[in-house]
Amino acid sequence: MDSVSFPYDAPVSQTLFDRASLVTPGGVNSPVRAFRAVGGTPRFMVSGTGPYLTDADGREYVDLVCSWGPMILGHSHPAVIEAVQAAVARGTSFGTPGEGEVALAEEIVARVAPVEQVRLVSSGTEATMSAIRLARGFTGRSKVIKFAGCYHGHVDALLAAAGSGVATFGLPDTPGVTGAQAGDTIVLPYNDLEAVHAAFHANAGEIACVITEASPGNMGVVPPRPGFNEGLRAACAQNGALYISDEVMTGFRTSKAGWYGVDGVAPDLMTFGKVMGGGFPAAAFGGREDVMAHLAPAGPVYQAGTLSGNPVATAAGLAQLRLLDDAAYEKVDAVSQEIRTLVTDALTKEGVAHRLQTASNMFSVFFTATEVRDYEDAKKQEAFRFNAFFHSMLSQGVYLPPSAFESWFVSTAHDERAIERIAAALPAAARAAAEATS
Ligand code: PLP
Repeated sequence: MDSVSFPYDAPVSQTLFDRASLVTPGGVNSPVRAFRAVGGTPRFMVSGTGPYLTDADGREYVDLVCSWGPMILGHSHPAVIEAVQAAVARGTSFGTPGEGEVALAEEIVARVAPVEQVRLVSSGTEATMSAIRLARGFTGRSKVIKFAGCYHGHVDALLAAAGSGVATFGLPDTPGVTGAQAGDTIVLPYNDLEAVHAAFHANAGEIACVITEASPGNMGVVPPRPGFNEGLRAACAQNGALYISDEVMTGFRTSKAGWYGVDGVAPDLMTFGKVMGGGFPAAAFGGREDVMAHLAPAGPVYQAGTLSGNPVATAAGLAQLRLLDDAAYEKVDAVSQEIRTLVTDALTKEGVAHRLQTASNMFSVFFTATEVRDYEDAKKQEAFRFNAFFHSMLSQGVYLPPSAFESWFVSTAHDERAIERIAAALPAAARAAAEATS
């Protein structure tokens, strides 16, 4: 087996991190990258090829993060790179409509039946923010239901989550979000339809929409229980609210049509990002034509973006989506299955209590003996075991998400060599998890 072992310190990454910390808060441009949950030096990556990343110290890792989802074909896929190079050669931004954005919109509409019209934006946060605004503008109502543990980007109103599990009404999760901004947000436990019915009853005629991750991956992978999304769909229809399915993470990853392709529950609005951008900042929201018709310039709800539909980003996204046929999804699913089996076998062998939860090819390991159905369950896991597991894997050249509350992502590029390296690293990592103490 192709086992890798290298000195664990990362002097060049550490130097870069020190430099970064002087000019950037916490040294990073997105918090989880700082390794605060697991400790240690964040690895500064310099290149990626197929299933591998190479850091500034020249060490190669099998990548199980895939840029948090987008790189479903692996890094530097030749067809994506070629499309990007061709687009760049024609110019990088025009601030006018262009054919690339039409083609990308057509591809999305063709893949996901409930999306009759789509608007392109630059990030998943922008997509969910705009979808909520549109839902409020369309219904003339203000309140929004979201679920604890679901992340929809850093939209002010959606950064409210029931931290204590007792307070369910609009407590801001971060300084800077005011009570007024979060006050119209109702936070409910995930997978709890009774709570949804009760909230609709208590707020009759006031709820604009329910927003949910199509299958949550931001508290670790916690799929909807059978009937949950159907129940949300029905509750929204009965109460005149819109059902918004956030597929920023699952979209074009969990199947050709994302999670909608798995459970077939049709939302009123959907949000996308990650895979559809091919590694560039492209995202989207779309859905029912009568709802989308309320968006400017067709309708009164304002929404805009200087770089929306950027020609380089749309070229990358389109090239990636066009390669994602049935065979590609079969490959990603098979890779995921193979790695899941290896992880479970290694942890079981060392007697480590764990739950490996999956949603199509997305998966994560919870260090707990019981099923995780919501955020409260997720928080009960022994995260310290994950941290030991993570550092052992990292020291053996396998790059996992640096938090116990994240999905792992694989790609079509994860070949036998990459999987063998994971297999070779797992026994020691499982042992480290078993021996870890809080
Ligand atoms: N929605 C979901 C489900 C996500 O997973 C994310 C990001 O991880 C977002 C929205 C926000 O997307 P972005 O980071 O592109 O703003």
